[in-house]
Order: sequence, then C-alpha cells, then structure tokens
Amino acid sequence: MPSFTPPRCPNADCPRHTDPQPRFCRRRGSYWPKCRAAPIPRYHCKSCNRSFSRQTFRHDYRDHRPELNESLFLLLTSGVGLRQCSRLLRSGVRCPQQKLAKMGRTLALLRDNLCPRLPSSRVFVMDEEETYEGASIRPLTMPVVIDRETWFVVAVDVGSIRRLARRGTRRRVMQDQEEAKHGRRQDQSRACTERVLRALAAKCPAGDLLLQTDKKSSYATLARRIFGDRLTHETTSSRRVRDRHNPLFPINVTLAMSRDNCGRLRRKSWLVTKCAPRLLDHAQLFAVYRNFVRRRFNHDKENETPGKLLGIVPRNLDAAEVLAWRQDWGDRSIHPMSRSGMQTVRASMVA
Ligand SMILES: [Zn+2]
Repeated sequence: MPSFTPPRCPNADCPRHTDPQPRFCRRRGSYWPKCRAAPIPRYHCKSCNRSFSRQTFRHDYRDHRPELNESLFLLLTSGVGLRQCSRLLRSGVRCPQQKLAKMGRTLALLRDNLCPRLPSSRVFVMDEEETYEGASIRPLTMPVVIDRETWFVVAVDVGSIRRLARRGTRRRVMQDQEEAKHGRRQDQSRACTERVLRALAAKCPAGDLLLQTDKKSSYATLARRIFGDRLTHETTSSRRVRDRHNPLFPINVTLAMSRDNCGRLRRKSWLVTKCAPRLLDHAQLFAVYRNFVRRRFNHDKENETPGKLLGIVPRNLDAAEVLAWRQDWGDRSIHPMSRSGMQTVRASMVA
C-alpha cells in the first residue's frame, strides 16, 4: 500500500485526531517486522509528539500472523471449524480463536459505521435461531433481523435461554445438577430480542415500518413498546409450511445460511459453541459476509450484495477490504474501499 497517507492522528486525545490539518505529521523512518514483506512507514505527530505507523490504522495492528486473516475469515464463513482452520492454515490452535474474537469486534463496528441509518418505510423480518453452548441442556438463542427486500442483516445478538424439561426425566435431572453447581440459568431471550429491536429502531429513528415475525407473544409487546404507532406487526404461524410463499421465507433461508456458513450452528456437531460470546463474534463475521461480500441470491450479479442493493456501498467488498482498517473511531473510521486511508466511512465511494 504505497499510497497511504495518515488521515488523522491516531491518538484520540490529540486535537489532530478530530481536526486533522494538512502536514500535521512528518515521516520518521520505518520498521520491518518479521511477518511483513516490506518495511512499514512510521510518522510523528507535530501536535502531540507521538509516533505511529501505518499499522496503527489497520485491523491487523499487532497481529502475529496478519497474512492468515483473509483466509481465516473466508474459512470461518464457509462452515469450517476453528481447529480445522488452524490445521489448514498451519497455525497454532489459539491463533484462530484470538483472531475470531478480534474480527468479531472490528466487523460489528464496521456494520454500524457503514450503515448508521436505513432508508425509511421498509419491511423487516425477525426470527430466532436456537443452538446451545457445550451441551443441549444449556440452550442459546440468536435473534436476527433482516431487511425483507435485500436480505441485509440489520441486527443480531446472542443470549442464554432457560427451558426446563419435564420433572422426572433424565434431562431434568441433568439440568437440576447443572443449576445446583453453577446457579440458575439466566433466560435472556426477551432482553436479547429487545436489544435487536432497539438496534433496528436506532437505524430507523422515524417513519413507518412493517415487522414480520412468528406468533411468539413477547415480540408483539416488545415491538409495540419500542416502535409505538409507527409499527405494523404481521405474524405468521410457525406451523405454516416453510416454502417460498411463507412470509417468513427470507429469514428462514437466512438462518439456514447461517447454519451452513457458521459450522458451530450445525445441529449435533462437534463444532457447537463452547462459549456464547464467541457465537456472537462468529455471527458478526456471518453478517458482514452476507451483507457485503456474498451476492444476495445465486442468480444476482456478482457485485449485487445486500449492502450494494441498499446503496450503502457501490459494489461487493472482498475479505481484504472488510478486514483492512480498524473501525473503533465511529464516523472517523476509514472506509473499507479506501486504499489511501483518506476517505472515512461517511465518504461516498465510486465502484
Ligand atoms: Zn497527535
């Protein structure tokens, strides 16, 4: 990346972070880390006297094996498990685990940065994917909201659920033993659905919207409380045949894709989640892959991702782009399509 220019001072306390001036910094040599093919330029801020490098702006800042990031992202969104990734990439076992958590953080921020608002008067579909952590007596829920027309994943979250089996069954005995040992299992289903709906409300602060869900009673109360009168809520029985005429078809297929793309969501699999926060990280990878990397339908054009169809980005992004720049500076973060680093996520890019 020879054309890189530091767009601002990376030190958030420096005035040149929010208000960068031309030539606020000067070049100060370079360093050559073992993991890179070329030296990395260093800079010095004239305002705060701190030094930084091109790496300070990048997602792979301080990574030990940065060259594995793109392949790992694609493997983890192709149903491959963490251990198999470490075998294929010839890395240590911990490497994909740590990278998954870091990618999850960056990609969650990227999704918010690229799409702080959605166009008004749209239709959204919500449902919950159920899985478990470690054993089926510890169930988890993963509510997902998508835009009906483009299948853009708007919000996703993960929470534990408590669902006791009938008294006297072997399963109930195991559940009771589990609770005696670790305390009562929390049921976060409602709180978790609420977070997802609030994330949707934050992206659609005004205007009418239509929400389609199944008949779970808590959805109606929560949605009414969050959106008030501007909401129309349509429900479909979960017993209705799940074909393309079912109003929940887009979310049913999205959840089926999430099971295909995230190995840990496959039922009765070794890959199942051992720790709930890692499922949320993995879901963030899936959401970015689905929104910005993969085309909406197989018969759409290659670059017609949900993000492009919504007008958020002008084309599909590749794994290198979504993992290019750090995203923890909100609107000041660098746009994934920017090669020089000069355009922020608010810039309108051309394909
Ligand atoms: Zn500075």
